[in-house]
Amino acid sequence: MSLTVLMNAGPWLSVPPPGYGGIENVIATLVPELRRLGVRVVLASVDSSTLPVDEKISVFPDGQFHALQRPYNQVCGISQAHLFGVVRALHSRDDIDLVHDHVEAVGLATLAAMGPDAPPALHTLHWDLAKHPALYGNLDGGDRVRVNGVSASQLARAPQALREHSVGHVHLSTPLAVDADRRPRAEKGDHLVILGRINPGKGQDVGARLARRVGVPLVLAGPVGPYHRPEDLAAAGDEARQNPDVRFFYDEVAPHVDGDLVRWVGTVAGQERDDLLAGARASLFPLRWEEPGGTAVVESLALGTPVVATARGCLPELIEHGRTGLLTDDEEELADLLLAASLLDPDECRREAAVRFTPAVMAQRYVDLYERVRQLASAP
Ligand code: UDP
Repeated sequence: MSLTVLMNAGPWLSVPPPGYGGIENVIATLVPELRRLGVRVVLASVDSSTLPVDEKISVFPDGQFHALQRPYNQVCGISQAHLFGVVRALHSRDDIDLVHDHVEAVGLATLAAMGPDAPPALHTLHWDLAKHPALYGNLDGGDRVRVNGVSASQLARAPQALREHSVGHVHLSTPLAVDADRRPRAEKGDHLVILGRINPGKGQDVGARLARRVGVPLVLAGPVGPYHRPEDLAAAGDEARQNPDVRFFYDEVAPHVDGDLVRWVGTVAGQERDDLLAGARASLFPLRWEEPGGTAVVESLALGTPVVATARGCLPELIEHGRTGLLTDDEEELADLLLAASLLDPDECRREAAVRFTPAVMAQRYVDLYERVRQLASAP
């Protein structure tokens, strides 16, 4: 296939990301598979990105994530400088067939504003958009700019202006799903795990309270605000409380963390993360927000760990109740489901991941969407 795609990853983190980095991880998973399918990829990112691509465009030498704490106008300045680099590249060459943009709102608006000279563009939505309708208000000239969600439920909640430009959704994937059905079974322990940013939406307070009620060990893994290790949070002192997730942790979660039955281990990565998930009796998602894509959900399935969750956001699309996990609308009922999770078959979870959530499945779906976006753009 002769298709050249400019993949816009934005200026915030290198690809693959050094640690945290949801969007950058999606791009790092997608691009090698696209290239295997014959797509040429020009990556617009920062110079320190090491992902193998056909060509790189960058304005900044390395990720500007640290600057996101700065005043709003400085953050916008960084965004604009990066996007100016992208727009300049698009104007100076004619070999780009399509832009695949992942830069929230600003990227989309810029592409829409470029008008008929720009290549058609597909913008992947990564957030729960119901809360940010204003960001996506103006899509003038948007017939050449289409969007896709990371789940059907995310799109259903998106503002009308976006839904009108939607070409569908593509579920997130994980490299862990490759051959997941053929890997040796992991030894199962007794513990539950909640993997994710400590945040009210992810509901670690509910999980911790219920785990103590039923007497099942629970490991909370993930950063609290910018703090990845318990000792870093402790050393930060009172100033850290300016961060809302830190306040949530101290006020709502920490009272249940006894260091014995319920533990917070900070951010886990690599083999440590995989072992923690694979060895758990279940992965718990006591969600209070409408989870848009749920990478940690598909990772859990790929590692043979059933999911127990509130049926919010994309969870009912990813999990089949009674086979790969247990879902409920009632927070308190999660406690019973935690105990029942050991009855589910880890092999069913791994089979599901190997069929639905591999990078190859995701890449093929994007190639189909690229085709559709180009057709729509060239229609009279
Ligand atoms: N993650 C991790 N270590 C942690 C916590 C999270 O590697 O301690 C990873 C997790 O494996 C997943 C990503 O961070 O790949 C979180 O993505 P998800 O879509 O689940 O949640 P988000 O934070 O983007 O809402």
